[in-house]
Formats: sequence, structure tokens, C-alpha cells
Amino acid sequence: MGPRDVSRAWHVALQPGATVLSPARDEVLSLDLEGRPRTHFVRGHTYKRSLASELFGRRTVAGVRRRWRVPEAEATGLFARAAEVVAAASAEADAAVPATRRREFVARLERARSWTPDRLRAERGRFLATYAPIAILPPDQYGAVVLQASFGCSWNRCTFCSFYQDRDFEVRPAAAFEAHVAAVRDLLGRDADTRRGIFLADGNALVLANARLRPIFEAARAAFPDQPLAGFVDVFSGERKPASDWRELRELGLARVAIGVETGHDPLLAYLNKPGGADEAATFIAQLKGAGLAVQVILMAGVGGQRFAAGHLRDSARLLARLPLDTRDVVYLSPFVVQPGSAYAARAEAEGLAPLSPAELSAQLADLRAAARASAPAARVALYPIDEFVY
Ligand code: SF4
Repeated sequence: MGPRDVSRAWHVALQPGATVLSPARDEVLSLDLEGRPRTHFVRGHTYKRSLASELFGRRTVAGVRRRWRVPEAEATGLFARAAEVVAAASAEADAAVPATRRREFVARLERARSWTPDRLRAERGRFLATYAPIAILPPDQYGAVVLQASFGCSWNRCTFCSFYQDRDFEVRPAAAFEAHVAAVRDLLGRDADTRRGIFLADGNALVLANARLRPIFEAARAAFPDQPLAGFVDVFSGERKPASDWRELRELGLARVAIGVETGHDPLLAYLNKPGGADEAATFIAQLKGAGLAVQVILMAGVGGQRFAAGHLRDSARLLARLPLDTRDVVYLSPFVVQPGSAYAARAEAEGLAPLSPAELSAQLADLRAAARASAPAARVALYPIDEFVY
């Protein structure tokens, strides 16, 4: 990518958690506090760099959002372009910064200048030495510090889910967890201080016995003080923990729990090979609320296609009406994405399970949103597009 028009005055913002450099109206580069590119808006596209130094592009055309992984060679070109912007800022953007903050500006740019494309690409190796790939997070945790207390999912047999097919369920021993926490701190660097909250991954770390979770919580909070903890849990595994355990975890710093409820329609849940049911979900979520936790209830839109659509909508609305949700809670509606090669895809094809059309999916999403708003007026209702996840 060649040099750009920098005739417009530079815009620079030294934010508490980011440095923003804009040499032209159609280009905005945001750096983390280590000086690594975080987002880069250029020529109508927004690129986001993951902690593993992969680049993802995003663009909305006529209301339709498109997201893609940027091929390696193009990513290297964009990293080089980011380095050009940083170099040009050093030479040309001084006037855009108040005199009182020039020293800070110079220090931030100096850190940023050290991030050559090669060094940025090498971050992938540091990431993989620190983490198993982070498969998914709830949307409000994209800015959290992720700590992997366990790997995978203890069930791993829901037909629609491919998040953890690449790994067995395993718990990280306490000493290894402490080393992992230190490695995460090192990988994030100064950026750690801008993160909000700690997310305990992978799929259901919170189902571990409290005796195992206590040292994990302590190590996490010692490294990232005062940060609230969050994690995923599924109904059928979480309900095995007594209410007193959830209260203890809240006292240890757990603030919110994301629950993959998926549907209130029991026949559909059985079709998905996910244990539990609406009654169990209602009891479990009431227990979490009773323990003082915020919850994020995740429902899928479009799952089960035409065959289950009416039952899914009806029973999910009924389930939501039973939940004691308040202003701290969220109902996430996740448009269902069939994973190629999944057991769901094979069964749907074998049985001729007709998917919802885009219009029907939009209608089901709207109906679920209306049901959530009517049943849980205090809770926030938000979209959870899993294919837009970047950490
Ligand atoms: S949906 Fe949840 S419980 Fe089911 S396999 Fe995936 S992570 Fe495990």
C-alpha cells in the first residue's frame, strides 16, 4: 500500500487506553498502549487485529455486514501501512498534540515504532505459547482479560457446537495456571490495564469444584486486582453446584455468568443433544440470581429450522417470562450459524430439516426480541453474532 494523502491536518487522540492517529479523513489507526495496531480504518474497511495478530476485515454495504479474515500477505501490507502512519506521525503530527502532552505522545510513538510487521506477525507465536485458541466469548467480554483455567468443554457433544472439537476437556493445574496468568500479563503488557474484567475460559471452567476454583480466583485477582470475573456455564453442569457455592464464588469476585440456554423448547434442546430443559434452566438461573450474580441468557435464533420454529419461539418466550432478570442482566440472541461438518449439519441434511430463510430468521429474531422485552423489561436485549468474534 503506497503513501497516502496527508494534506488534511492530522488528528491525534491520546486516550487512556489507546492512541489514535488519523493522517487523513479516510484513515484512522488505533494503537493499544504497547503501540500495537488494534483497529485500522482505511478506504472504507475496518480491520481489527486479534491478540494472535490475525487481521479481520469488516465492511457494511447496503446494511449488510461482511467480515473476513485477511490473507497473510495483505495483513503484512496493512501492518506495513500502520508502521508508515506511525513514522509519519512522528514527523508531522506534533502540532496536533497539546504542548502539555507532547512528551507522552513521543513516548507512545517510540513504543509504536518498534512494532515492525515482522514483530507483529511474531506475536502469533507468543499468543500460541500463552493460550489455546480462544474459541468464543460473550460479546461484553471482548475487552476482558481471558484466563484459561480449563480447556474445552466437559460435555462437547451438542450437535451444533464446534467450538472445542479440537481439544479434550482438561483442567489447568494450579501452578500451571499461575504461570499462565503471568504469561498473559506479559503478552498484554500495558494493555492489561485497559482491559475490563477477567473471563475464565474455556467453555465451562466455572463447573470446577470450588476447592479448585478458589486458588484460580485468587491468582487471577492478584494479577488483575479489582477486576470482576465472568465465565460461561451450561445449565446441566452448573445446576450441580449448590447455591452456597455460587454465593461463595460471588464473594470471591465472580460477577456475571453467561448461560448457553439456546432454547426454552425441550424437544429442540433434545434434538441438539444438549442436556437440561426449560425447568432446569429456570431453576438454575433463579439460583444464580439468588446468589447475587448477573446473568447473560443466550438463546439461538433460527436453530431447528422450520420444524421447530413455532415451538422454539413459544417456549423460549415462556421461559424468559419465568426468569427473575434485572437491570444487570442481558438476553443475548444469537443468529444460528450451521457449522459445516457438524453433527447438526449432517442430521439436518439427512432428515431434510429446512432452515429458516433470511426473512424468516429476521422475523424470529424480532419475535424473540419482543418476547424478551415484554418478559424481562429490565434486562438488556442484544445480538450475539458469533461469526464476528475477534479477541
Ligand atoms: S454448546 Fe456448550 S455444552 Fe454444548 S458442546 Fe458447546 S460448549 Fe459444550
